[in-house]
Amino acid sequence: MHFRTIIEPFRIKAVEPIRRTTRAEREVALRAAGYNLFLLKAEDVLIDLLTDSGTGAMSSEQWAGMMRGDESYAGARSFYRFEQAVSEITGLKHVIPTHQGRAAERILFGSMLKPGDIVPNNTHFDTTRANVEYRQAVALDLPSPECNKPEFPCPFKGNINLEALEQLLKEQGDKVPLVMVTVTNNSGGGQPVSMANLRAASDICHKYGKPLFLDACRFAENSWFIKVREEGYEHKTPLEIAQEMFSYVDGCTMSAKKDGMANIGGFLAVNDDALAQRAKNMLILSEGFPTYGGLAGYDLEAIAVGLKEALDEDYLRYRIRSVSYLGEFLSGAGIPIVQPPGGHAIYIDAKTMLPQIPQQQFPAWALSLVLYLEGGIRSVEIGSVMFGRQPDGSEKPAANELVRLALPRRVYTQSHVDYIAEVLLYVNKLKDRIRGVRLVEAPPVLRHFTARLEPVAGALVVEG
Ligand SMILES: *Cc1c(COP(=O)(O)O)cnc(C)c1O
Repeated sequence: MHFRTIIEPFRIKAVEPIRRTTRAEREVALRAAGYNLFLLKAEDVLIDLLTDSGTGAMSSEQWAGMMRGDESYAGARSFYRFEQAVSEITGLKHVIPTHQGRAAERILFGSMLKPGDIVPNNTHFDTTRANVEYRQAVALDLPSPECNKPEFPCPFKGNINLEALEQLLKEQGDKVPLVMVTVTNNSGGGQPVSMANLRAASDICHKYGKPLFLDACRFAENSWFIKVREEGYEHKTPLEIAQEMFSYVDGCTMSAKKDGMANIGGFLAVNDDALAQRAKNMLILSEGFPTYGGLAGYDLEAIAVGLKEALDEDYLRYRIRSVSYLGEFLSGAGIPIVQPPGGHAIYIDAKTMLPQIPQQQFPAWALSLVLYLEGGIRSVEIGSVMFGRQPDGSEKPAANELVRLALPRRVYTQSHVDYIAEVLLYVNKLKDRIRGVRLVEAPPVLRHFTARLEPVAGALVVEG
């Protein structure tokens, strides 16, 4: 190819208008929402970067597939298409549909864990951790040491710590019924796991007779990072890379709201026949019959098509480039972000950017509010509002104060990304005038979803 510009590899057939609002209108909306972006009406948001989960745009092929959906209760054609798509990529023997990823987690852990067990993972996603802990087991994060340095770039920051894994299996292996690796490592910033790390983790697990499971939500994005960053994979297709990743594991959980390119759905896939049988028995209790598992036939069709589209090279090149393009803009302007950018999101380090705001006044929360106030952009705080409250009711500041900008799949174009960058550069210029917030009321658990706050200085941005 002679041309450098990476274009959106699609043209747009249906459009959904987004609504501009004035700063004054957003000020009113923020006050009404108790200074909590979760409580805004989505139609008051111009660019919504709250999450990349279930927010993507489906293709014309997916919509066509939905019209072919077979809604038979048992043995629907759509199930066999879905099963075929999952098997081609994962090679796993039993494919069990669920309504989303956390249902697959609940069924897997419900079938495998007992109180006191330990589940190691590079980093547990929050629903994964909650489902492990619900079984009174311990969700143990074993990230590779380089994950802990936000501004230090390295190609596979999502890796699991192999020495710590082996030591755990050697010393307490009897308590570990399974090991998980999350690709990409979401909580660690959408950072990829290398094939070498996954292969080595697999060797260690199998040496100690433990099954390895992939939390596969962003398997396609992880495949792309392996292709462009790991020696020996540059000539392989993303599908071949994904197939090799799955060849090292005994099962997986998946949220089809991420690299399934669907608005809802998920699955559990396993090789073990007895485990599959136990999981299907649990599935029938709460999700549904094993050939639909809480989904409509048309959802199964959308996922079957979406899983393949997620592995398209042009799509992945555009996807990963959109994220790094935004990251380059921001770091070029001196805005501190987690380096290197991950696959689905940019994380701004608000503790470094806004040193005038103590952690007790939630700098990342305040910054996310200012991005909405000034530019109509919705992001999410990953900091002390989300994690600061301890089980005993006391407060302890989170390790990092991050603002996550998650990019939905195939939804925004380069001019949207340019706009996001422009808003951030503008906010960066007035950063010295940004002030913190305090809690007015908050529930004891998962408070970030419903808490109400207020600006400590009467305004988020004070006069200069
Ligand atoms: C989203 C996600 C889940 C849970 O999936 P849901 O579909 O939201 O239930 C699990 N693990 C990771 C890494 C995720 O990103």
